[in-house]
Amino acid sequence: MAKEEGGKKQMPIYEFRCSQCGHEFEDLVSWRDIEEGKVECPNCGSKDVRRRLSLFATRSSTGSRENKSSCGPVG
Ligand SMILES: [Zn+2]
Repeated sequence: MAKEEGGKKQMPIYEFRCSQCGHEFEDLVSWRDIEEGKVECPNCGSKDVRRRLSLFATRSSTGSRENKSSCGPVG
């Protein structure tokens, strides 16, 4: 018996945090749902949710940014 494992469909689980009640939840949604604001808090039903970054989110190199403060003459 051959098992077909070709069509592996794994939707990423995103973590959200409700800005209204602060409820944190994770949902299995598509990126499109997020962009269209279809994600809502299961606790209070608010759509004012923010997606939390995953742990594997790449952080910019530890080097501090060279932010030159512009102290030139304002013209
Ligand atoms: Zn909420």
